[in-house]
Amino acid sequence: MGTRGQRAYEIVSGGAPRDFNSLLAFIGLGSNLDNPRNQIDQALLVLDQASGVELIQVSSFYRSKPLLDMPGPDYLNIVCKINTSLDALELLDLCQHIENKQHRVRDVRWGSRTIDLDILLYGDEVHQTERLTIPHSEMINRSFVLLPLYEIEPALELPIIGPLKRCLEQLELSDIDKI
Ligand code: ATP
Ligand code: MG
Ligand code: MG
Repeated sequence: MGTRGQRAYEIVSGGAPRDFNSLLAFIGLGSNLDNPRNQIDQALLVLDQASGVELIQVSSFYRSKPLLDMPGPDYLNIVCKINTSLDALELLDLCQHIENKQHRVRDVRWGSRTIDLDILLYGDEVHQTERLTIPHSEMINRSFVLLPLYEIEPALELPIIGPLKRCLEQLELSDIDKI
């Protein structure tokens, strides 16, 4: 897989030597089928082992009802923070590869699924193409995204959108449980 030409911002944490072409990204994972906890753990494992991806931080699990009163079991969601040298489309390919490996079936939009991996943020980049919208187009409307994101990065500034804290203040948070 290729590497990016420039990084969007400085990585200040210590630890293993870093690839200077890498940047921080946040991925939202969700599942409501076939043992959601295992589905999410499995996806995190594959993400971390992928070439060009280092898993840095993972939020708690959050449980919520399906969107729009869709039928189906409750969802588990988390957000993870990664360091990656993949470009945004390569990262999307990897996310979709993991979804396919875990037998994600797409029939009904927002229907039940074994696993969903959405790229929420990719450095401070903004993407608006047919395959990729970053920041993720619905993230600011979703407590199951913003709460776990806030847990791991409370001071985050979202490109175009502004402070994560301000987005959270505008959301209804009674429909979600941290577990
Ligand atoms: P939602 O995007 O509302 O959460 P979903 O996750 O169920 O819905 P998917 O079926 O997983 O939707 O993906 C539909 C398409 O969304 C994908 O084919 C992908 O190209 C596109 N897409 C656009 N932006 C993103 C992004 N930031 N992360 C992941 N997929 C994205
Ligand atoms: Mg999604
Ligand atoms: Mg998706």
